[in-house]
Amino acid sequence: MSLGRHSIPVRPCQADRDASHCTPVRNTATVSSSQASGTEYADAAELGIHVIPLDTPFAVGQVNTYLIEDDPLTLVDCGPNTASALTQLERQLEDRGHRLSDLEQIFITHQHLDHSGLAGILAARSGAELVTLDRLAPVLENWAGQAGRSDDDALALMLAHGVEAPVAEALRAVATIIRGYGGAARVDRTVNDGEEIVFTGRRLEVQYRPGHSPSDTVLYDRANRVALLGDHLLAKVSSNALVDSPLPLPSDPARSAAATSDSTTPGPPPRRPEPLLAYRDSLMRTRLLEIDLGLGGHGPPVRDHRPLITGRLSAQERRAEHFLTLLADGPRSAHELAVLRWGRVAITQAFLTLSEVLGHLGLLLADGRVIEDASGAIVRFHAAD
Ligand SMILES: [Zn+2]
Repeated sequence: MSLGRHSIPVRPCQADRDASHCTPVRNTATVSSSQASGTEYADAAELGIHVIPLDTPFAVGQVNTYLIEDDPLTLVDCGPNTASALTQLERQLEDRGHRLSDLEQIFITHQHLDHSGLAGILAARSGAELVTLDRLAPVLENWAGQAGRSDDDALALMLAHGVEAPVAEALRAVATIIRGYGGAARVDRTVNDGEEIVFTGRRLEVQYRPGHSPSDTVLYDRANRVALLGDHLLAKVSSNALVDSPLPLPSDPARSAAATSDSTTPGPPPRRPEPLLAYRDSLMRTRLLEIDLGLGGHGPPVRDHRPLITGRLSAQERRAEHFLTLLADGPRSAHELAVLRWGRVAITQAFLTLSEVLGHLGLLLADGRVIEDASGAIVRFHAAD
């Protein structure tokens, strides 16, 4: 989607680490996933699930798509809208004895363009049925309008929280270019949270897990204790909870109309979503599941999800404490906090770092430990007495 809001998981950012840990970095574990697939994914292959890693132009490196050899023959996630990803996918399908036209079903785990970008092209070329969570469908079907609205919201958010106008506007312009790695797709069938996708040899429960994006969906095979996780939980990188526009729910005519509009006129800033609070709730729900094998959107499989989730939640709490200490000398804007924490990276990755700060301030606001002052031109936060 837009700059800083396509999937760019970063290494775990802890309060006691330097800025480089929150810089989007190429993850060696992710890059090695294709070479490692023979061994790390052996148990997945035994269940008929085959990892197909595809290159992306983003710092995260490759994205994992998954071929489920069952009836219907299904691809989970698609890769970005690039010729190289399409070629790599076709070649790896051939390696397994399939052609693109053999695909019968495509499922998209979330709206980020490294996962959804090729969906429209693949569905059109293969004739496969494109299936998504109900609330993801309007995003894919009205890609340009929704992406434009999302970028406008991001611009308004950056300006409201103290990012200098030239920086915010430059990032908005780059976002328009990056949007080309996504694309519109017609969704054939939608599924709801809790519904099952039924195959001849398995049943996958649809579990809505917002936070990293507003549309994250986990597919859970309860019988085999396997979960296809998208970017909800990754073994080697800590997924960001990124601020993004609320989804245009199919049942909400106002939002659907906004999504179908190609207008890019910035409106008043909407009420800020709290993605980190949503993400923490989602992680706690996933922690309750019985999972032996978690198949993520980047990097190697998740083998031990409970301690991994507990560690991620603790790291978020430590980081929130760190931001609270940065408010000891008086009120600050979220962007000032990002600059204090990450220096130059807070300029070049202004939206990503702003999302990180606002997410953690959201934890402190929810606990009544920080107060938000939106009375001025720039929103400021101060520690509660
Ligand atoms: Zn991703």
